[in-house]
Amino acid sequence: MDMQALFKISHGVYITGAIDTAGRLIGSCVDSVMVTEVAPPQVLVSLSKESYTCQNVLKTHELTLSVLAQNVPNEVITRFGTMSSRTADKWVPDSYHLVSGLPVLNDSVATLFLTVLKAIETEHHHIFLCRVVQAQMGSNRTAVPLIYADYQQQKKENKMMEQTTNKKWVCTVCGYVYDGDVPFEDLPEDWVCPLCGEPKSVFVQE
Ligand code: FE
Repeated sequence: MDMQALFKISHGVYITGAIDTAGRLIGSCVDSVMVTEVAPPQVLVSLSKESYTCQNVLKTHELTLSVLAQNVPNEVITRFGTMSSRTADKWVPDSYHLVSGLPVLNDSVATLFLTVLKAIETEHHHIFLCRVVQAQMGSNRTAVPLIYADYQQQKKENKMMEQTTNKKWVCTVCGYVYDGDVPFEDLPEDWVCPLCGEPKSVFVQE
């Protein structure tokens, strides 16, 4: 089975908002959302069982979705997608507002407030069938919604850029790899290789 085939089925990227039993605002990054009905409006949201947000939505039966824009700062996805709400406060003051007590991102394309009608348990997820109770366009309503395939492409490009900028300076005489804190370009002209004593000019970028 070629798993690459599964990744060709693309979808949007969203931030869920919820509240835990202690009243803390929590949330996560999700990509498995699907509108199943429009009258009355219903959506499916799939959350990993290990996610703190999932475990709390099972108890509260309420959550929000913020639709991310294509130009969303990477930092937002990293914060919501890689940290756990168990320990991290992901909702940065002034970046969100509350809809019926649950957080949504100010800078989103659109927001939904959902109540859970049914939770379907799979091996690793709970799939929530939800009623859309409130739907609003966000302050970033004219932006193109972020698609997972575009996000993956962006990540790949960022990584390639990082690798290009992180090239190592290597001494062509002895093979010493410069690993100092000062950028190699900023070293003084009379700096010499600490291993063989040759000048800066014999170093090449690899
Ligand atoms: Fe050297």
